[in-house]
Amino acid sequence: MKILVINAGSSSLKYQLIDMSNEEVIAKGLCERIAINGSFLTHKAHGKEYVFKQDMPNHKVAIKMVLDALVSNECGVIKSMDEITAVGHRVVHGAEDFNTSVIIDEKVLDCLRVNSELAPLHNPANIMGIEACQAIMPRTPMVAVFDTAFHATMPEKAYLYGLAYSDYKNYRIRKYGFHGTSHMFVANQAAKYLNKPIEELKIITCHLGNGSSITAVNKGKSVETSMGFTPLDGLPMGTRSGSLDPAIVEFLMQKTGKDVHEVLKHLNKECGMLGLSGNSSDFRDLTCDGALNNPSNKRAVDIFAYRVKKFIGEYSAVMNGCDVIVFTAGVGENTPYVRGEACKDMQYLGVELDENKNENCPRGKIVDLSKDTSKVRVLVIPTNEELVIATETKRVAKI
Ligand code: AMP
Repeated sequence: MKILVINAGSSSLKYQLIDMSNEEVIAKGLCERIAINGSFLTHKAHGKEYVFKQDMPNHKVAIKMVLDALVSNECGVIKSMDEITAVGHRVVHGAEDFNTSVIIDEKVLDCLRVNSELAPLHNPANIMGIEACQAIMPRTPMVAVFDTAFHATMPEKAYLYGLAYSDYKNYRIRKYGFHGTSHMFVANQAAKYLNKPIEELKIITCHLGNGSSITAVNKGKSVETSMGFTPLDGLPMGTRSGSLDPAIVEFLMQKTGKDVHEVLKHLNKECGMLGLSGNSSDFRDLTCDGALNNPSNKRAVDIFAYRVKKFIGEYSAVMNGCDVIVFTAGVGENTPYVRGEACKDMQYLGVELDENKNENCPRGKIVDLSKDTSKVRVLVIPTNEELVIATETKRVAKI
C-alpha cells in the first residue's frame, strides 16, 4: 500500500510517496516558485535527483507535474495513479474543530476555509493543495492531519491568555500550538527507545528548526507548548521574533512609521536569528566552521539556547519534574552547541549531559547524550512528520 503525503505552502509543495508495507520513502520532492516566474520541480527517486523546469501557474498544475513524475518512464516509481491508495495532507490549523485527523469531505473543507482567518499564511495554501489533488484524483481518499491536533489535550489554564474571556469566546483567541505531529512522534519514539510506557513518562520535546517549539508531554499528552495563537509565539526562530511584550508593536509603529501589517511582517521575517545576528537566519551559517567566533552570531545563538533552557525549566515546573528531554528537527538534531548550552547548569533538575557524546552525536539515529548517572535522559531523535501523516492517513482511511 502506497500513501502520498502532501505538504502545500503558498508557493511550494513538498511530497513523499511512502510504501507502508516497510515505511520506505520510494520518491519525494519539492515544487518551488508555484505561481511565480521560474517554477521548477525537484524529484528524487531511485537514488537520483531529477529537476524539471516548467511553468506552474497554480497548485493544480504542480500536483499534475508530481503525479506525472511518479508514473513517468524516466523517473517514475509506480505504473499508474491507481497504486496510490490514499493521500495525507498536512494542515496547519484545525482550531478547536479538529482534535484528530479526519477524512476530507466538503464539510471539512468548509471548516478549513473558515479557520483560514486563524492561519492566513498557511491554511489557504493547504486548501489549495487539497483541492488540486481532489480535482486530479477524485476517487482517492484524502485525510487531513493537523499540526494543532496533538495539543488539543492542553488544559484551559495552559491555553488561555490573560485577555478578557470574551476575546476567547468571541474571537477564538487562545493558544493552539503547532508542530504537533513532530512532538507526538518523538515523544512516542522516546518511550519506545527507553522501553517504558509513555503513560509513565514526563517528556519535554524540543523541536528546533527554522521554526521552533517546545512541548511538555505528560503521560503521552501535550499539556503545554511554546507556540501560541500563531507560530510567531515562543522561542526566537530563524526569522521570527518569538514572544515579546505586546506594547512593542505600537512602539515600533510610532518609531518606524510602519503600519501594523508591516510591523508583523518585520516580526515574522526580519527578526529572530536573522535580526539578532545581522547575518543569517540559518543555524548552519551561524554555528559551523568557526562562525560562532563572530560575536553577532554567538549573541543570536546564545539567546536562542537561553530561551530553550528557560522553557525546559518552566515545563519541568508544569509537570513536577522531567524524565526525558528530546532534541529534534534541523537544529535539535545537528547543533551540539545549542544542546550543550540549553542543558548547561541543570544539576538542580538532574540533567547531566555527556559532552563527548553531544559533540560526536552521529546523524540520523536515536542517541542518548546523557551520562549514566543523569536522572534525566537527554535524547536526540530524528523527527519524521511525513511518516506520522502517512500512518495517520492509513489509520483514519481504514486501509
Ligand atoms: P528544519 O526547519 O527542521 O529543516 O531545520 C532547519 C534548520 O536546521 C536551519 O537553520 C539549518 O541551518 C539547521 N541545520 C540543518 N542541518 C544542520 C547542520 N548540520 N548543522 C547546523 N545546523 C543545521
